[in-house]
Amino acid sequence: MDIGFIGLGKMGYPMARRLIEAGHQLTVFDQRQEAVNQLVTLGASAASSPKDVADRAETVMASLPSLQASLEVATGSSGVIEGKLIKRFIDLSTVGSHMAVRIHDLLAKQNIVQLDSPVSGGVGGAEKGTLAVMVSGPSADFEIVKSALGVIGKVFFIGEKPGSAQTMKLANNLLSATAVVATSEAVVMGVKSGLDPAVMIDVINAGSGMNTASRDKFPRAILPRSFDFGFATGLMVKDVRLCLEEMKALGLSMEVAEAVGRLWEVVIREMGPESDFTSAIKPIEQAAGVVVGGAKGGHAAIK
Ligand code: NAD
Repeated sequence: MDIGFIGLGKMGYPMARRLIEAGHQLTVFDQRQEAVNQLVTLGASAASSPKDVADRAETVMASLPSLQASLEVATGSSGVIEGKLIKRFIDLSTVGSHMAVRIHDLLAKQNIVQLDSPVSGGVGGAEKGTLAVMVSGPSADFEIVKSALGVIGKVFFIGEKPGSAQTMKLANNLLSATAVVATSEAVVMGVKSGLDPAVMIDVINAGSGMNTASRDKFPRAILPRSFDFGFATGLMVKDVRLCLEEMKALGLSMEVAEAVGRLWEVVIREMGPESDFTSAIKPIEQAAGVVVGGAKGGHAAIK
């Protein structure tokens, strides 16, 4: 099918590439011309703005880094809202349910359907097409795009209520954020007392402590100290803050989530928003006076 795709970053680029490889005709736009050019060499058509994309495709997908970018791309003066052909806007970004509903309401005035479709599974999942794709919106439109979304991952229909897929995604990411900092604290504790962090991770992954941080992030980006998993600290903190706002809006006060939120505020302050989110272990290491993994082949170096 003809698909417009806006936002060709760490997630958007591999998702767009997979759609082309699956035989869909893509019209693409990004503020970064080099990302557009790379997809054109794979067979996509280049557009000059989100409106231009929406002039040429009934279905427009977006994968953008901030709430403001999603709002602007969807409803700004050169946004998809001004497009002639567009019938549905699929936001693959994580924006929280409040922003999703705001975009939904603005697009509805122009008879454009919004499908929330945040994804989980990281850059590796986007490259392999194994993301969890959470969709909310009208089921008739969902049926039209279901098989295209199947190219990027396993598709789950969360419900018709606007924003509900965003709530699902925030629940997922709270757990992912918790896993990174909680596993970092557990491993730093072990290293401080002299345990080998590589052995610790092997044991945890064979035991009941196993989680996505111990399974994926520690072996790939923390123990080798490459800190290049592919998700920015700024994006993780965006999601944790959105989750806390969502909880407050529901009248909830949740102790673990709030503690996790405080830890991630320390990470963004000390490591910066552009750092990889696996850098979250560094402030915890610093406070304990240890380094986990690295040149010694995964052994602890006690300062
Ligand atoms: P990214 O920063 O790598 O990519 C964003 C892209 O959007 C960039 O290419 C940027 O140039 C482009 N862009 C920004 N503003 C634009 C605008 N106004 N018009 C056109 N293009 C614009 O971010 P990412 O890591 O790919 O994340 C995208 C979304 O996916 C975020 O909502 C993030 O929370 C979510 N997400 C990311 C991951 C991950 O592991 N990276 C996993 C799941 C979900």
